Amino acid sequence: MQTLFKNIFWAIVTLIIISFVFSGVLGTDRAEAPQKLSLSQLADRIAKGEVQTITIRGDELSIKLSDEKKAVAEKESEIGLTETLKNFGVETAKLGAVELVVENQSGWQFWAGILIPTLLPLIVIGFVFWLMFRQARTGVNQAFNFGRSNLRLSNFKEKVTFKDVAGLKEAKEELVEVVDFLKNPKKFLDLGARIPRGILLMGPPGTGKTLIARATAGESNVPFFYISASEFVEMFVGIGASRTRDAFMTAKKASPAILFIDEIDAVGRQRGAGLGGGNDEREQTLNQILVELDGFDRDTRVIVLAATNRPDILDPALLRPGRFDRRVVLDLPDLKDREEILKIHSHGKTLTQGIDLRKVAVRTPGFSGADLANLMNEGAILTARRGKKTIGQEELFEAVEKVVLGPERRSRVISVKEKEITAYHEGGHALVAAALKGADPVHKVSIISRGIAGGYTMKLPVEEERLRTKKQFLTDLAAMMGGYASEKLTFGDVSTGASNDLREASELARKLVTKYGMSESLGPMTFGKTEELIFLGREIATEKNYSEKVAAEIDREVRSFISHAYDVAVRILKNNKAALKKVAVALIEKETLEQEDFYGVLKPFKIRPIAI
Ligand code: ADP
Ligand code: MG
Ligand code: ZN
Repeated sequence: MQTLFKNIFWAIVTLIIISFVFSGVLGTDRAEAPQKLSLSQLADRIAKGEVQTITIRGDELSIKLSDEKKAVAEKESEIGLTETLKNFGVETAKLGAVELVVENQSGWQFWAGILIPTLLPLIVIGFVFWLMFRQARTGVNQAFNFGRSNLRLSNFKEKVTFKDVAGLKEAKEELVEVVDFLKNPKKFLDLGARIPRGILLMGPPGTGKTLIARATAGESNVPFFYISASEFVEMFVGIGASRTRDAFMTAKKASPAILFIDEIDAVGRQRGAGLGGGNDEREQTLNQILVELDGFDRDTRVIVLAATNRPDILDPALLRPGRFDRRVVLDLPDLKDREEILKIHSHGKTLTQGIDLRKVAVRTPGFSGADLANLMNEGAILTARRGKKTIGQEELFEAVEKVVLGPERRSRVISVKEKEITAYHEGGHALVAAALKGADPVHKVSIISRGIAGGYTMKLPVEEERLRTKKQFLTDLAAMMGGYASEKLTFGDVSTGASNDLREASELARKLVTKYGMSESLGPMTFGKTEELIFLGREIATEKNYSEKVAAEIDREVRSFISHAYDVAVRILKNNKAALKKVAVALIEKETLEQEDFYGVLKPFKIRPIAI
C-alpha cells in the first residue's frame, strides 16, 4: 500500500513539473500581462494611428502599439481581420499603415495547445488506475492469476554451477548427461536411445537437491523453469491441474528446457490413500502431471526434474518407466564430502590460518549439507560476537555443538550439588565408553548445559559407517547406562538427569529385538508392521502382528538387554572408582574436557578396555 501512495505522489509531482514546462513554452509573450483589447477598441486605436503591427495567429491577435506596448485581442473566426476592421469603420489608408503578420500555427505548439489540456488528465487517471491494478495483482490478492502456474524462469540471483556443489558424484554425472542430451539430442537419437523424461532427485532434507537442480540450470544454459509443487495446490480448488498444464506448455514452448518441480511429494502422494475428500485436488494435479509426461513426443526436448525427500510415499505411477524413470539418490555427505562442503561454505569468510576443516568434519557425522552451511554461519556469528577478526577452530567446534544441542546456557544457575551430580553422571558415560573395547572414542565431556541437556558426552565413530553390529550396539547401550549407574553408585540415588538416557536406551533395545533380529531367544525375525499413514506422512501406526505371548517375550528381551548393559556399566565403574572420581573432579573444576584432556586424566589409571 505504501508503494501505491509513493507512486501517486510521484505522478502528481511529475504532472506539476510538466505543466510548468508547458506553460513556460506556450505562454512566453504573456510575461508582461498585455492589455486586452476588444475589436472596437482595436479599430479605434488603428484609426488614431497608434498601432504598429498586428500578428495574427489563428484567431488571436498580438498587437504592438506605437509606444512599444503590447496588447492582445481576438477576432471572430471565419472572417478575415481586414474585413472585420473595415466593418468597424477603419479606413483602408489607416489600415495600410499597420503591418499585418500572419503566423501559421500548424506546428507542435498548436497541437500541444489543444491536446495537452485534454489528454493529460486522461493519461494521469489511466496511470493511477494502472498502478492500482498492478498493486492489486501483486498484492495479497492473486485472484487475477487463477489457473496460471507460478512458473519462474530461473532468475536466481547468483549463478550456481556444479563447482558450488560438493560431493554428490553420481547425481552430478547423471545430470551432466541430461545437459548433454539437451545440447546434442542428435547424438542420442541417432543411436535410437530414448530420451530421459523425468529425473527424480531423492534424499533427506538439506542434502542439496534444490541446489544441484539450480546448478544444472547454471551449467546447461537452457531455460530453466522452477516451480514448487506446493504452489500447484495453493488456494482454489481445480487450479492445480490447469497450473500443471500451463507449466508444461510454457516449458515446451521454450524447449530445449528444463522444468524443475521441487517438493513433488506435495502432490505426488499415493492416490486413494488419504482420508476424507480433501485430497481430490492433489489427485487431479497428479493425474495432470502424469498426462503431461505421457504427452511428450519422442523428441520433445524438455526434461522434467523433480525433488522429494519422501520417495517412499510417491505414487507408483509416477515412477513408471517413461515418467520419472531415472532416480538419483542424494545421500548425507560422508567425511570427505563434509570437509568439501565446509570448504565451499568458508568462501567469503575469513578463517584463521592453518585451520583444519577436517577436524570439524570428523565431529559432524549425520550432518546434512544444510546443517554444515548453518554451522559455518554460526561459527562466523560466534566469532563476531567475541570481537575476533578471523574464525578460529574453537569457534567452529562450538558451532557444531550449538547446531546439535542448541546454545550453551552458562547463565543457568546450578547448585554445587547439581554440578557434582552432573559431573559424576557425564563422567560415568565417558568412563564406560573408554573402558569398553570397540566403543566410539570420547571426543568431549562437558557439564555445561546446552538446550535441554544438562551436560553431554560426545562420542564419535572412528570411521564413517553404514552398518553397525550387535556388539557395537551393546557397547552403546552400556555407555548410555553409564550415567545412571554412576549416579546410583556414587550417591546411592538417581536424578531426573538420566531420563533421556533411559528413554534412548529403551528405544534402542526395542529396535534390536523387533527390527534387527538381534535377540537370541526371539531370533532373526522382525515384529510389528509399520504402516505409513499417508495423510500425516509419519510413522504413527504400528500394527501389532504378533501374539500377546510374543509381546511379553519382546518386553522381557528388551529388559534383559538393558539390565545387561547396566550390569556392565556398574562393573566397569566399580572397578575404576578412583578414575571416576578423578574425572568428575576435573569436570567440576574445568567444566569441559576435550579428548586429550579426558584421556590425559585417565592415563595414570592404565585402564584396559574389556570386551562386552
Ligand atoms: P534440499 O535437498 O532440502 O533441497 P537444499 O538444496 O535446499 O536442500 O540445500 C540447502 C543448503 O545446504 C544449500 O543452499 C547449500 O548451501 C547447502 N548444501 C547442501 N548440500 C550441499 C552440497 N553438496 N554442497 C554444498 N552445499 C550444500
Ligand atoms: Mg529443497
Ligand atoms: Zn546422560
